[in-house]
This record gives sequence, C-alpha cells and structure tokens, in this order.
Amino acid sequence: MTTPVYQNFINGHFLKNQSGETFAVKNPATDEVIYHVEVADAFVQNAAIESAKQGFATWSAMTPIERSRILLKAVELLRARNDELAKIEVLDTGKPWQEAECVDVQTGADVIEYFAGLAPAQVGQQQMVGEDFYYTRKEPLGICAGIGAWNYPLQIACWKSGPALAAGNALIFKPSEETPLGAIKLAEIFFEAGVPAGVFNVVQGAAEVGQWLTQSDDIEKVSFTGEVGTGKKVVASAAGSLKDVTMELGGKSPLLVFDDADISQAVSAAMLGNFYTQGEICTNCTRIYVHKNVYKQFIDELKTRTEQNIIAGDPMNPEVNLGALISKNHHELVMGYIDKGISEGATLLTGGEALKPDSAPNGYFVAPTVFTDCTDDMTIVKEEIFGPVMSVLVFDDEDDAIRRANDTHLGLAAGVFTKDIKRAHRVIHQLQAGICWINSYGNSPAEMPVGGYKQSGIGRENGIETLDHYTQTKSIYVGMTDIESPF
Ligand code: NDP
Repeated sequence: MTTPVYQNFINGHFLKNQSGETFAVKNPATDEVIYHVEVADAFVQNAAIESAKQGFATWSAMTPIERSRILLKAVELLRARNDELAKIEVLDTGKPWQEAECVDVQTGADVIEYFAGLAPAQVGQQQMVGEDFYYTRKEPLGICAGIGAWNYPLQIACWKSGPALAAGNALIFKPSEETPLGAIKLAEIFFEAGVPAGVFNVVQGAAEVGQWLTQSDDIEKVSFTGEVGTGKKVVASAAGSLKDVTMELGGKSPLLVFDDADISQAVSAAMLGNFYTQGEICTNCTRIYVHKNVYKQFIDELKTRTEQNIIAGDPMNPEVNLGALISKNHHELVMGYIDKGISEGATLLTGGEALKPDSAPNGYFVAPTVFTDCTDDMTIVKEEIFGPVMSVLVFDDEDDAIRRANDTHLGLAAGVFTKDIKRAHRVIHQLQAGICWINSYGNSPAEMPVGGYKQSGIGRENGIETLDHYTQTKSIYVGMTDIESPF
C-alpha cells in the first residue's frame, strides 16, 4: 500500500521541493510508516521567506479587529474539525484518543481565541513632556519562527501562532520531524479562514531546517519548544543575528505532599503529572516529596491505583488511558533510565517493564513505573526522563523539602498539596519555578502565563504578557515647541 506524501505549506498552498528528499513518519503504537513528508530544501526555504515577507506586508496593514475576526474563524474551523485533528495527533504521537479528543485541539483553539480577543485591545501610551509629548506604538516584529516538540504538536503550533499572528506577524513554523501533520492542517485552516497567503508557512525537516530558521537574517524572533540542550544551541545560533527568543524547555519538577494533604487528591495529581500522555509532558512532577507521616498511605494508594486503573493498548480505543512513547529510540532511552534507577538502588514499587498490549503488540509502550526509596543524587531524580517514570522521596521538614526541591538547574513547574492555606502560599513562593499549582496539577488555561525559571526557559507563552513578546515598542517624540539649538 502506498502512503501519502505531504509537501511543505508555503504561500497558501503545498509546494514541491526540488531535492526530492523525504522522510517517513511512523505510528508509535504500531511501528508502521503512515506517511512521508518532503524536506524543506533551499528552494522551499527561500520561498517561505519571500512569501512571509509578502504575507507580513498584507497582514500587518490590516486592523487588529480585522485580524481578530479571521483568527476567530480559524478557531471555529479548528473546533468543527476536532475529531479529524485529534485522530491525526493520536496517530502521530501515540497518545490516547481519550486525551486528544478533549485536550489537544481544544487547548490550541482556546489560545488562538484568547489572543484574537486581546489583539484589538493592545494600546500604546501617550505622555506630556512639558508642552511636547511622546506616544508609543506596539508594532509587530516581522517574520517570526516557531520550532515545535513532538508531544503536543498541534497545540504547540497554536500556542505559537496565536499570539504571533494576533500581533500582526508572519510565522514560519517547523514541527518536529516525528509529528509533522498537525501543523499542515493548521496552515490549511488558517488559509481557509482568510489568513493571507504567506502569513503562516510550514517547513518540514529535522535539526538542519531548525538551524536555518535560527540563523536566517530575515527572521526577527524564534519561539522554541524542546529540550534544554537544543534550546541552548538555538539561543547561541539566534545570537548571530540578535533575534528575540522565547524558550519553552524541559523540567524536573517537584510536588510536595504535606501530612495534612488530601492524600487521594495528591495521588491523583501525582498520577496525572507522571502518566498523562504516557509521561511525555514538560511540566511533569517527576519528583514527589512526601511527608514521612503520610508516606506509607501515599505509596499504598498510588500502587493500587496505578496497577488497577491504567489501561495500555491501541490509543484509538476510547478505554485506553496510556499510549505509546513517541519512538523506538525514546522507548530505549526511558527503559535505560529505569535500569539506572534499579542499579542505583531505588525500589521498584510498580511497573518497570516494556509492555506489549494485545491490541498494539508492536507499539513502544512502557508500564507506568514508580520508584520509592529514592535519594536526591540518583540519576532518575536528577534528569528529565520524559516517560511514565515517577520518583517518590520522603521529607520531614518544610525548609529541607524546599531546599531539596530547588536543588536543580531546572525550574519549569512545581506543586504543593496541603490544607494549610498559609503553608501553601509560603512554600509555593519559595519554590523556584515558573508554573506552580496549589492542590492541583497540570492545568494550563490560555489566560495563565507559562514558562520556566533557571534553565527551563526564557520568556512566557499564553497570558497577556505574551502579546508583548511578539511586538516591539516604537516611541515617537512630538515637538510642539521650537528647537533650542547651540549651532
Ligand atoms: P528537541 O529539543 O529534540 O526538538 C525540538 C525541536 O527542535 C524539533 O522540532 C527538532 O527537530 C528541532 N531541533 C533539533 N535540533 C535543532 C537545532 N540545532 N536547531 C533548531 N532546531 C532544532 O525536543 P523534543 O522534540 O525531543 O521534545 C521533548 C522536549 O521538549 C522535552 O525536553 C520537553 O521537556 C520539552 N518540552 C517543553 C515544553 C515547554 O513548554 N516548556 C513543552 C513540551 C516539550 P526534529 O525533532 O525534527 O529533529
């Protein structure tokens, strides 16, 4: 059976490359090639820049309310095509349908809707300076680049294009080579909604295509989602042309469970924050610090619920709540971390093996895994694993727990479970992380800014402030008095 071949989406249509180079995309749940994609060669790259220049000229000349209207139409189309798009995400990523059906498209559409609403409300300032005055304009940056990770492909494309386009920019987006289709569908939807040709182009390929975007002198900003190591390369490369950068990178986030917490709720948070999307979520609370008085109760309930309530298998089955990891390589990486946890002395409470569910025997599944008796120096406690692997640690002193939680170069997210309202705020204010939850974990509405402290990122996505990251301020001084010149 021949599989489809997708081309790059440039200037409102599919553009054939000249090199003929393609790459294959596999369904992680079946290990089968499902389609091929053409790589963006030099011809496609040049076309992307030229059309983005044209697109930017048209789009930035429109009023914010005109742009808003078009973006809201795209939101309507995204929601109407929810199931078609969610299915693409399931086949590309291996995540369960029961998640994609209600999260991936919806949360992407929410963010575009949010920024479409904000765009017409963005205003400059005006201030008198004696009889003269100045005013400021919020102007778009020009052509921006977005580079996405593979865990939430469509959502990431929406989270970058929403504010970029609302502010009047053009965006060239490169999805991960593992999950390239969602961004193409978004491009079709934008175009159908009335976004002018060239305003949202999709280029395909691996690191080389990403590098080209970070180096191009025609691109003013790069918004990147991916690993810390890649993020450092992107920042270094973007420095060559002094591009503005937004970096959404990895994490190794702590969740602190105090002895007055609702333990069932805390277990729910820990399971969501380690097993949802089979653990491939950047904000995951992979270090769970539990107060010694409730440690046994916590791990007993965690073990029971993990062993009883998780169903791995064909991700398109709506009953399934644990999907396949993104690739064979990633599967090996995660299994390698599990081996390290065992060899470094952690106790395997549950899981720890690769799974071969009857409905998807060739998929890259890993059993939901919990390690107890963990210590802060273990590799599984220090490094981001990006799979369903949780480390549980014990504490008995609040200050010590905070110190240990902060003892990492990462700072993406953190959480605390306690019924003591003063302690909740006191603790969370001391945790060095950009996204924090009290008696909750993982919710990320469009209204809430998200981003990392320390090496987990630069800048923010979502929330009002993000629109500022896609504009530049022009100050205009207006002379109402004669110039006093010494010449
Ligand atoms: P990678 O860093 O491997 O890749 C991210 C993107 O960068 C991909 O599109 C990749 O292309 C591209 N890329 C690779 N090398 C370069 C380069 N030198 N220059 C420019 N672009 C490049 O991340 P993953 O895709 O593996 O995603 C997982 C990571 O993403 C985890 O660390 C996770 O924590 C993080 N993440 C962070 C989020 C946040 O909001 N903070 C959200 C989601 C994930 P290709 O893959 O095609 O090779």
